[in-house]
Amino acid sequence: MKILVVNPPNKPFTNKSIIAEPIDILQIATIIQKEYKEVKVLDMDVNQMNNNINKYLEEKNILIFVFDYHIPLHTTETKDNIFEIIKNIPKEIKTTTIVIGKTSSYYHEEFLKNGIDILMNGVVEQEINKVIKYIDKKEELLKIPNLVFKWDDKIYKTEKKRVNFNFKDLPIPNRELVDIEKYMDTRTMITSRGCIGNCAFCATPYFFGKWTAKTPKQVVDEIELLIKKYHAKKIMFLDDNATVSKKRMIEICEEIKRRNLKCLFGALASLKTYDEEMFQKMYEVGFRWVHFGIESGSRRILNSMNKFFDIDITKKIITRIKELGYRVRVSLILDYPTTTKEDIEQTKNLILETMPHEIRLHYLTYRVGTPIFLQKKTKEITSQYIHQKTKEIKDKDLMSTINNLVEELKNKNYEIITDDIDWNKYNNMPKDTQIATFTPIKYGVCWYE
Ligand code: SF4
Repeated sequence: MKILVVNPPNKPFTNKSIIAEPIDILQIATIIQKEYKEVKVLDMDVNQMNNNINKYLEEKNILIFVFDYHIPLHTTETKDNIFEIIKNIPKEIKTTTIVIGKTSSYYHEEFLKNGIDILMNGVVEQEINKVIKYIDKKEELLKIPNLVFKWDDKIYKTEKKRVNFNFKDLPIPNRELVDIEKYMDTRTMITSRGCIGNCAFCATPYFFGKWTAKTPKQVVDEIELLIKKYHAKKIMFLDDNATVSKKRMIEICEEIKRRNLKCLFGALASLKTYDEEMFQKMYEVGFRWVHFGIESGSRRILNSMNKFFDIDITKKIITRIKELGYRVRVSLILDYPTTTKEDIEQTKNLILETMPHEIRLHYLTYRVGTPIFLQKKTKEITSQYIHQKTKEIKDKDLMSTINNLVEELKNKNYEIITDDIDWNKYNNMPKDTQIATFTPIKYGVCWYE
């Protein structure tokens, strides 16, 4: 029996210069590998593959698609690619297909209708090996929570429950499962999962539940491995929010120092968890880059996002963290419902006062399962419009204010990026290079000692 864990194609393919190893998929495959040595990972995105994987299949297979799980990079079209891949498998090849991820957790019918056998809802790491073990035993599958599966044309739904999951039970992801040379030169880690925030547009709190993390020792063991085995010079903490626990982060820093590990680090964090002492200690051991999702400079819009954060404190934090020596990225949502010209003006003021190095400009994505998605009362499946670079906004006033903001950024020496580019040319640009972009930015550019 062949077990193939697949990162489905993200067409149009993700810009090669920004592709990171699919770390959430490697984490799942590593757990499977503990019990099933024969497991393989197929990354269709980095290999830019069409929707046909037949040459990777044997007579009997378990195919596990991880779509829109921890790292939200898949586009909505990825789901259709999965359906086509399944359609292309000849009948004589026996295949049981499992799909994992946010979109499939909320939309069972469409996946089952298109040939998927089992949907694993929510957190899967604890149960994946059980599902593989009992793949041919309906009665046993029925005992595993959070499954929806098809058996003899009948649909079964097992008990829905929050899994008591602890991130520290997970092993170090095995990067040997992919060809690491094919990915960008900044290595990635996930050291925790979940967030203490509750932003209405974000799927994390609703999908993963409470925050859970690896221990400082586990985190630094992985860092040490990445440095010694993979010669990592830069490592990104791709946690939903890496700085939820000050105590844990300080202990990580102390352990990095104790082991005398030399590397540069970046982290996704939230303003709510900013702490001066913690960020100073992080800087001392090599943290040089941080991302904060500030999303808007308008108090009214922030409140409607469930993001009750004081704008004056935001300004102080960005200013201060720049003084500490960090390169700072912020993200903004330009068209959150009810956004007016005045709101964008306030966002512009916040940006021009603080001048973050990197500004990621977003149009809103209605991610499945989030409060704004549910409010929209639509049946339309959306996950992430990563390829949505521009959007026609009907409100002419609002559109011209957004255009104005972009013009102002240009005047302030921001390079405005609206298309996929080769990010490797930014690898050695000066630390204070200012970029405002409508497309994803490569991790690790312009961070230095
Ligand atoms: S702070 Fe970030 S990760 Fe946390 S809920 Fe808000 S958007 Fe999601």
